[in-house]
Amino acid sequence: MEVTINETKVSIVRGDITDQATEAIVNAANPGLMGGGGVDGAIHRAGGPAILEECRKIVAQKGRLPTGKAVISGGGNLNAGYVIHTVGPVWHGGSRNEPELLKSAYYECLRLATGNKLGSISFPSISTGAYGYPLDEAAKIAVSAVVSFLEEQSTSLKEVVFVLFDDRTYESYRSALQEVMGSSEAGLPIPD
Ligand code: ADP
Repeated sequence: MEVTINETKVSIVRGDITDQATEAIVNAANPGLMGGGGVDGAIHRAGGPAILEECRKIVAQKGRLPTGKAVISGGGNLNAGYVIHTVGPVWHGGSRNEPELLKSAYYECLRLATGNKLGSISFPSISTGAYGYPLDEAAKIAVSAVVSFLEEQSTSLKEVVFVLFDDRTYESYRSALQEVMGSSEAGLPIPD
């Protein structure tokens, strides 16, 4: 499924983010940036040790990455030239600012991509694996964050892709995009 917002194509695909050829891929990292399970482990395995080495330097310089923030490294052996590492919130039941922090994670990645004049970026489903964020709620926040960023900000990005690993996650993002476009200005027909 795909839609266009201003001049940027937003699409939802099923797949493995480590195969993507967008200029950047996003890693659902943890604050220590030392790799881990899930998509984080997959990115470091596919990208090789250069990414971890760069992450180590970033943490030595700036400290641990706070939840909702993002940093950029090279892409090592990946097709993507860059990895944008962000930390989504751990789900604690919704009373610890989880929705704002999840939105912030997407925004910070999009800002960093724009600041680096990147043309394309792929996102995984941040926080919905080990971090336990309820999928349908996370999908709505993810999709609305991307749509509102593209409606509000000027950006170098021509393409934003959500790369979802399994059918259930793919379906959840697809219906979230349908819902968000139904209520968004970008989804309305152009008046005469
Ligand atoms: P978090 O700790 O932020 O919850 P996880 O990596 O545990 O991150 O899970 C986030 C999502 O990434 C889950 O939907 C998981 O199925 C998915 N995922 C795992 N491996 C990959 C991959 N190679 N490409 C894309 N998505 C992946």
